[in-house]
Amino acid sequence: MQPTPASSAKCPSNHHPLDPHLAAHAEAGPAAAAGAAAHSAGGEPKPDGDGEASLPVLDPVADYEKIKRIGEGTFGIVYQARDKRSGELVALKKLRMERERDGMPVTSVRELRVLQTCRHPNLVELKRVVTGPRLDSVFLVFEYCPHDMGKLVDSMPKPFHESEVKCLLQQLLSAVAYLHDRWVMHRDIKLSNLLFTHQGCLKLCDYGLARYFQPWEETYTPGVVTLWYRAPEVLLGAESYTEAIDLWSCGCIFAELLRNDPLFPGRTEAAMLDLMAGLLGSPNERIWPGMAALPHADKFQLPAQPYNYLRKEFPQLSDSGVELLNRLLTFDPEKRITARQALRHPYFTERPLPRLPEYMPTFPSAHDAASGGNGRAAQHRQRREMEEAHGRGVKRRYQMDERDRFGDAFGDARARRRPEVLRRLD
Ligand code: AMP
Repeated sequence: MQPTPASSAKCPSNHHPLDPHLAAHAEAGPAAAAGAAAHSAGGEPKPDGDGEASLPVLDPVADYEKIKRIGEGTFGIVYQARDKRSGELVALKKLRMERERDGMPVTSVRELRVLQTCRHPNLVELKRVVTGPRLDSVFLVFEYCPHDMGKLVDSMPKPFHESEVKCLLQQLLSAVAYLHDRWVMHRDIKLSNLLFTHQGCLKLCDYGLARYFQPWEETYTPGVVTLWYRAPEVLLGAESYTEAIDLWSCGCIFAELLRNDPLFPGRTEAAMLDLMAGLLGSPNERIWPGMAALPHADKFQLPAQPYNYLRKEFPQLSDSGVELLNRLLTFDPEKRITARQALRHPYFTERPLPRLPEYMPTFPSAHDAASGGNGRAAQHRQRREMEEAHGRGVKRRYQMDERDRFGDAFGDARARRRPEVLRRLD
């Protein structure tokens, strides 16, 4: 099975990406919003058991037997569970509602809306929305994927073969191209948000930070994306960034898969910029016009380092592989390659060709390992610490940032499928 080209993937067209129905329910309360979402996700609302006509009661979470906790993202805890009726394994994500006084958190409304409208073989599939015994307990039911790339890579003694890396990168770029075509930027692409199936399919998950973007300049919450995968413009405080931030993250993942180690494992924003300058050469106004005007441009003192060491760092990689990596890791977001352009890059048509997903290696489930094995547990701990620190920061910022609380959350008729004319420019 070849990864389905993003263009041929099905995305139900009968739901507007900014479904006012769902938005109205979100204001009415979590279970009501979940009700609206469940209609869209295929769930059948049932009459309320206690006879009081009120919020629609959906499939109860009691229909699922929780097996174990398998992960925790910024906005919810994830459990492995079994559908008691069909026996199917699923992933249950419990949405965090704590301290929410205004109904469902905006991040959950966004996550639901993106999942509701975007269907692609490389995006994790939302099966339904279910409610628990309390009005504020809402669970998203996802297809279950046995691996999380963060845990998997941290447990592998040696990197993937290059043909396997190509297969994974191609699938990731297909997912990103599909989202960008629909005006969605993910804003937290990282290894731990890439799930992997026994059939060799990669699935992008966690849309808690995803949001619709505009074709004109717009400001968004600063400081998004987990530190190791954060683009330089975000590190320098840009608020009017674009979907190009997702492509920087793809570049970091490409490099990490090739060498089995994170490319920029900085602990602070300053360390991140130092690592970038050390590997790629220091950015300046000549190669990145507008850089000096970014809010934090004066805050960081970058080393004077004029050389790009990518070729030296990846000696086995072909010239076109280095070229693709360079274009993903381009400082100036305006010049950074787009997902569609990257998919057409000659790197994918030269030998070794991308491995077919069904011929990808299989592994024991990463969710069954306590943490990374093979002496790389320390690296996995470091990854988790960095991710948790980011999660705490992001939650704080979301609570404070009015744009992200109300910006695109409750309906904006401008956001719709990206016009063909713009996509053809890619
Ligand atoms: P999230 O909150 O979506 O970032 O999920 C947190 C973690 O839960 C991920 O890094 C995965 O390890 C795990 N996870 C999330 N979704 C799934 C899924 N559909 N199947 C298996 N594991 C998942």
